[in-house]
Amino acid sequence: MTSTRPALLGGDPLLPAGLPLVRPPVGDLDLLLPVIRRILDSGALTNGAVVRQLEEEVADRLQVPHVVAVSSCTAGLMLVLQSLGADGPVVMPSFTFSASAHAVTWAGGQPVWADVHADALTLDAAEAELVLEGAVAMTATHIYGTPCRTESLSALAESAGIPLVYDSAHALGSMRRGRPVGGFGTAEVFSLSPTKVTTAAEGGLVATHDAEVAQHVRYGRNYGNPGDYDCPFPGLNARMSEIHAAVALASLAGLDQRVAARAELVERFRARTGGLPGLTFPVVDDGDVSTYKDLTLVVEPDRFGLTAPELASALTAEGIESRRYFWPPVHQQKAYAHLFPRRPLPVTDDLSQRVLTLPLESTIEAAGVMDRVADAVLRVQEHAADVRAGLP
Ligand SMILES: *Cc1c(COP(=O)(O)O)cnc(C)c1O
Repeated sequence: MTSTRPALLGGDPLLPAGLPLVRPPVGDLDLLLPVIRRILDSGALTNGAVVRQLEEEVADRLQVPHVVAVSSCTAGLMLVLQSLGADGPVVMPSFTFSASAHAVTWAGGQPVWADVHADALTLDAAEAELVLEGAVAMTATHIYGTPCRTESLSALAESAGIPLVYDSAHALGSMRRGRPVGGFGTAEVFSLSPTKVTTAAEGGLVATHDAEVAQHVRYGRNYGNPGDYDCPFPGLNARMSEIHAAVALASLAGLDQRVAARAELVERFRARTGGLPGLTFPVVDDGDVSTYKDLTLVVEPDRFGLTAPELASALTAEGIESRRYFWPPVHQQKAYAHLFPRRPLPVTDDLSQRVLTLPLESTIEAAGVMDRVADAVLRVQEHAADVRAGLP
């Protein structure tokens, strides 16, 4: 019989070997390594057939006519926003990863913050509408893989006559009302960095129905060179290498299984921790599919007995890594503190202090590990008062 005391109070850690937040999903190495060898032997390290294969497979999967591979989601967003001439006010959530705002800024725009839905934590169209005056574009983030409420966001962008770009970094594999995320708005940009559910080691994918946007990104990832070295605009080097594309293809092969396993593990975790006071989860609308790029808890400290950072400290003692995704919200970060919100952001200000992201595995074989993560949350909460007293 193991002690039920939290490790912070002298019990045995539930995951003594340590559980990292993310295990990058690199795919089957026996299949991948010969492809990498072939690429290196061929001498064609970039602008080649493997990148094209990745673009075609993803376009097929998303049912979108144009997919352009880039070196990162951040670079993809920059090029998409540049192609749209988004060099004025851009309405966007502050409750997102900083790169969403960096891309707007590098493209010459100025973020205008709008609040998010308190249940889903995605951009609230009604809030966006209140700050839309003068905006040249809008962006929204499928945060944690939760699909945005795309209908109201599309309706708003259309009525304002401005483009809508999704930061879809978390959402390759998500579905909104039966449609793959990737086909919404003017363009959607995915990330393939190591913390995402599909990875290229580093990389990004731009998906769009707009042929001009796609063409701009194709030139733009290659310095803006249309082929004759007479660049019509300043581009980047934002190409994806053939090796990265091979890693992405190997990772993509297991995506559907990973998404299904993650949903099942989240369900199991929620059932096991169900009824804990002051513990809730971001809402994924009925029928939608989330990649659950993150398993994020929302902690109400008065009822739970601990704040999110206090819970994080207690979980560290159990061997469980966690991260405050996303705190501080972007509008409170040093780079953006001068851009005062036009309207208060009460949901963002509140929820960003209360979120905590825990490790989530991608195979159902990890159910036992995830049960221990849930048990850690249970026993820490049970001893909340002593845990708080025991913290430095
Ligand atoms: C990871 C992430 C990015 C950045 O992706 P990169 O591929 O690393 O540039 C952008 N937005 C969000 C919401 C992210 O989580």
